[in-house]
Amino acid sequence: MRFDIVTIFPGFFTGFFENGILSRALARELVTVGVHDLREFTHDRHRTVDDRPFGGGEGMVLKPEPLAEALASLGIAPKAERKATETPDTTRVILLSAQGPSFTQAMARELAAVDRVVLICGRYEGVDERISQLYCDQELSIGDYVLSGGELGAAVVVDATMRLLPGVLGNEASSEFESFGVADAEIADAEAGVPRSQYGAGGLLDYPHYTRPADFGGLHAPEVLLNGDHHQIRLWRREQQLRKTLANRPDLLEHAALSEQDEKLLEAIRRETL
Ligand code: SAH
Repeated sequence: MRFDIVTIFPGFFTGFFENGILSRALARELVTVGVHDLREFTHDRHRTVDDRPFGGGEGMVLKPEPLAEALASLGIAPKAERKATETPDTTRVILLSAQGPSFTQAMARELAAVDRVVLICGRYEGVDERISQLYCDQELSIGDYVLSGGELGAAVVVDATMRLLPGVLGNEASSEFESFGVADAEIADAEAGVPRSQYGAGGLLDYPHYTRPADFGGLHAPEVLLNGDHHQIRLWRREQQLRKTLANRPDLLEHAALSEQDEKLLEAIRRETL
């Protein structure tokens, strides 16, 4: 899979590419990332990428021409043309914007299925709207706050997406069995033997993790995790997921895949807190 990032601060991404899972995925060529300096697509002495907003008001706006030229250099035609010539869904052009819908794990899964993602990083007051109208398949926000640029957003999208690609994580199952994971209660129930690193999340938050030493800071790791009874471990982990989700993100419970046993557990947990 290929990512292309268009930015006025290409240096921003250097450290990000050199660490952890992403650096390994790049070295193994499971992922390629191109970072493109918007200023390379200007033609004046000052390499101007911004201009004053029509209608007046604060700040500056990223001009459309350098962005259109940068996209053309990446082989990205306006979306009307792309739609007419391309098989759908092979490329996704995304504008990072506080006005976009919020990025979710479900969107990361969708993006992981396409061949190429092009990310446009805004700066200042944002990007001339015609870039979004002419070129972008979607706008994406990484949350309800305003950042000074789209670079952090692009890094978030690349990170969350690339780790879902086959072969990128050491353990294929880990991305199914984690917070917001797809594996549901039934899949997990059907699993025999040693519990996977994470129990089927079914849209719930992950359960708490512990490692050695068993005693730390006056706290003992939960006994159930130390006694090797896989069935009990599964039950405990599921209960913890339900507790955490109810406490921190009750909204997720509305769409989570819950078994009958989950519903009963949840009822019991709710009664405790009454
Ligand atoms: N005037 C805009 C904010 C511009 S911030 C507004 O009020 O909505 C400058 C750039 O930072 C944006 O063009 C966008 O690319 C990026 N940005 C800011 N907040 C973001 C967010 N929550 N998610 C993704 N990108 C964001």
